[in-house]
Formats: sequence, C-alpha cells, structure tokens
Amino acid sequence: MSKPPLPRDWLKDIQSAYDTVVIGSGLAGMTSANLLAKLGHKVLLAEHHYNLGGMATWFKRKGGHIMDISLHGFPCGMIKTLRKYWSQDISSRVIQLKNVRFDNPQFSLNTSFDKVDFTHILRERFGILKEVVDEFFHTTRAMNFYDDVVMTTRELFEKYFPGRTDVWRFLMEPITYANGSTLDEPAITYGIVFSNFMDKGVYTYQGGTDYLIKEMKKELLRNGVDIRTHCMVEKIYVEDKTVQGVRINGQDIPCKSVLSNSNIITTIEQLTGEEHFDPEYIKEVKDVRLNDSSCQVYMGIKKGETVPHVGDLLFSSVADEYCTDKILSKDITSRTFSFYYPEIRPGTDRYSIVSSTNARYKDWANLSEKEYRHDKHDLEQTTLDALEKYVPGIRNKIDHIESSTPKTFKHYTLHPSGTSFGTKFEGLKVSRDLPNQINGLFHAGSVGIIMSGWLGAANYGVIVANETDKFLRQLSPSLVTA
Ligand SMILES: Cc1cc2nc3c(=O)[nH]c(=O)nc-3n(C[C@H](O)[C@H](O)[C@H](O)COP(=O)(O)OP(=O)(O)OC[C@H]3O[C@@H](n4cnc5c(N)ncnc54)[C@H](O)[C@@H]3O)c2cc1C
Repeated sequence: MSKPPLPRDWLKDIQSAYDTVVIGSGLAGMTSANLLAKLGHKVLLAEHHYNLGGMATWFKRKGGHIMDISLHGFPCGMIKTLRKYWSQDISSRVIQLKNVRFDNPQFSLNTSFDKVDFTHILRERFGILKEVVDEFFHTTRAMNFYDDVVMTTRELFEKYFPGRTDVWRFLMEPITYANGSTLDEPAITYGIVFSNFMDKGVYTYQGGTDYLIKEMKKELLRNGVDIRTHCMVEKIYVEDKTVQGVRINGQDIPCKSVLSNSNIITTIEQLTGEEHFDPEYIKEVKDVRLNDSSCQVYMGIKKGETVPHVGDLLFSSVADEYCTDKILSKDITSRTFSFYYPEIRPGTDRYSIVSSTNARYKDWANLSEKEYRHDKHDLEQTTLDALEKYVPGIRNKIDHIESSTPKTFKHYTLHPSGTSFGTKFEGLKVSRDLPNQINGLFHAGSVGIIMSGWLGAANYGVIVANETDKFLRQLSPSLVTA
C-alpha cells in the first residue's frame, strides 16, 4: 500500500536568524524586502498564499484566460518608483491608458485623464471659469501629508464648485474607485491622489500583473531575499518592548526587526498582542476604521472573438448623482469596467473585461451558502446586462464568467472585512507610531487612504524600509551597504 505523501516543509533550510522578517508580499512588502536586501540586510519574506503580490495579483482559467485583479490604473509616479527601487527593465513596461470614459445620467465623455484635458473639460463642458479651475488645481497640488486635515473633500468641492454635483462626480468618482475615499474624508486624501493622476494621466502595466510580479520575484531572489510562500506568520514575539522573532507555520525564527505588510490592526491586535502596547495607543487603534471592500466580475472573451475599442476604463453609473451610499450598496448602480485588449499582453490575441464595484463586507459576510451563490450569480448577470449597452452581444462573446466579493479578498489577503484600501485616514498615524511602541516593529501597507493603491503602497514600502534600515544600522554600526 502506498503511503500518503509527507506534507511539504515550506521552511526547509531556513536560516537560524534574520535581520528583518517581512510579513506579506503585497507591493509594500515586496518593495521593502527588495530595498532592505539591496541595503545589505538578511531578509525573509513570508507570504501565506502560494503566490506573491497580495492584491496585485491575477488568476488563470481554462480556455487561456488571465484575469488581473487590481490592474485598472495607477499614476505615472509608478514609473519612477519601479525604476528606482526595482529595475529599469521592470519600469519600462508602464504604459498610458489613453481613453478613460464616463457614462452617467449627468454626462457622457471621454478623457485622457490628465490636467490639460480635465481643465479643458471643466471649462468647455461644465462651464467653469479658468481662474476657478486653475485655483482648484493649485490647491490640490499644494496639499501634502503634513497639512491641516480639517477640511473635507465635500467642503473643498463646495468651496470651488458650489452645488455642481455634476462636477463633483467628474472629479470624485474615479478617486473613489482608486482609493475607496468618500466626500467626507479629509480633503488631502483626495488632493494627493487626484494630483498624482493629474500629473500625466493614468497608467497600466504591459505584460499584466503576472509578468510584473514574476519579474519582481526574480529581482528579489537576485538581491538575496529568502522568499517563502505558504508561510503564515502566526506571532510576532516581543520582550521588553523589543522584537525578538516570529512564529511561522509553528516554527520560531529569531529576527532583529519585523516589517509587517499584514493589515495594521491585525499586526497589533493578533500578531503582536495588545498587552505589549501603551493603553493610550491601543485606544487610538480601536478608533481606526477600515476602508470598504470590493466586488468584481471577471469576463473572459472566447478565443477568436474581439471587443471593439470602447475605452480602457469606463466609469458607468445609472445613479442620478454621485452618492457614496449608492456606490457601496449591494443594489449596484455604479460599475467601473476595465477592458483588457491584446495590447496589454503583446503576443496574445486575447481580451478580458473586469467590472469592479465598491462593496461592504457585512452585505456578503453572513449569507448562507445558497444565498451567497445566488447573490454572486445575480451580480454576474446584472453586470452582463449593464455591459450590453457598451458591448452589444456580450453574452455570446464570453466563455467564462466568475465573481469575487469582500469575502474573497479577505480569504486571499487576510485583511479584516476584505478591505481593499486598508484603513481610513486615522490608520496612518497608528502605522507611523508603531516603531515608537515596539523597538524593531514596523508596518508598511495600505493605510490612511494616501498610502494605498499600487503607487501609495510601493512608496510607503520604500519609506518604511529606510526607517528599518536606520534601526538595523543603530544595532550594527559597522554594517556596510551592499
Ligand atoms: C478590487 C481591487 C481593485 C484595485 N484596483 C487598483 C488599481 O486599479 N490601481 C491601484 O493603484 N490600486 C488598486 N487597488 C489597490 C491596490 O491593489 C492595493 O492598495 C495594494 O496592492 C495593496 O498593497 P499592500 O502592500 O498594502 O498589501 P496587500 O496587497 O494587501 O498584501 C498584503 C499581503 O500580506 C499577506 N499577509 C497578510 N497577513 C499575513 C500573515 N500573517 N502571514 C503571511 N502573509 C500575510 C497577504 O496574503 C498579502 O499577500 C485595488 C484593490 C482591489 C481590492
């Protein structure tokens, strides 16, 4: 009788200790691991999933379909970040999406989604005075991280475009999809992200997420990062307010520092334990609100079928006005369609379409298995109905459809409530203060709305990797940079 195979040891040949253990391989985790290794530190990157990338991921399905999850668009700053902290080759595949489309009861228009075109549309289409447009751009451009956070985005819009809900929608809807923010967040969470996009437009990655993450993995290995997938970090050990090590898949591994790319709340409450923190800090942690989550519908176009160029990104809505509650409602009125034409993956002749909607975890979390299946089916069918307007005969063009919900995102990334963009603004301070609570404990990953999205997460990874490097150098002043 043959014996069942022994379970694989995902920590085989692990080193006896590391300078840094990075928990999680989202864009912040991978970028920080890469930088720390380049700076000469011994780095272990532990990811519970079988793939790297976190939310920056993809999946394949029978029939040659490849679906991207979060590759809808990012600001051009990603070119510099990829070049500086990854490689010239990796950065060279960032390309612009030229045709962004809006279609809703208030307006239908196409835009290249940059400052020149937005200025033109605001003046010609919406009749806003040049001085007002210029002043609005100047104000948002000047916003930064250290600003007063009293003004909300709603107040910002009231100030420049009073009562103009059509303009609010034009300016806000894409940012809601880009970082989950609403009109009632601090205006800087809008201003920083909006200005990043307005700089030069919206960009994507030629080759798809699969190509990007595979190239990043090669670079991580080249720089000496010890990458371990299927590795769940269960505990961060702390003694005398100082990091001692971690427990991964039941095994203790000593380390001098931990950089957690796991959710900030999970990092504090579950992985470390509240007892290690000052009560005042824990109070702040309890006040951190999670951001909302998403639903997506993935549609694979049959081999040989085509989709006409109807836009790269399409913000479609049947709601009368921009309204956060409606955007989050399970009764969907707004959908963002991403069209992936063959140019995205040169050498293939395949198309796919992904529809994204913002969503609340609680609307999906407590359904029975039967209700859950039913509601997912409904989500897929109503999405096809909505898409029919832009791609007539869509049902005959596809041979694959499936959907994900906030529960899916929670399952794959372990974020509480499947949050797509980390936390609301207050999470940023808690994340920044973490190393002041525990020596050697750092967090980088989607928080505070600003530090989310591909660019925000990767850049935050750089900031925190530099802080971790500084900490390690204080412990070993003789360390030579590689
Ligand atoms: C549907 C959707 C669409 C999006 N679209 C865009 C877009 O078009 N443009 C854009 O810029 N951004 C987009 N985003 C957001 C963007 O993908 C994320 O903000 C970004 O990728 C998050 O990176 P991160 O570093 O914060 O980590 P995450 O991607 O959240 O990764 C965290 C990683 O840590 C791992 N982990 C957690 N806990 C543990 C543990 N205990 N042990 C081991 N591993 C652990 C997880 O498995 C995961 O791999 C989208 C997000 C979603 C959900």
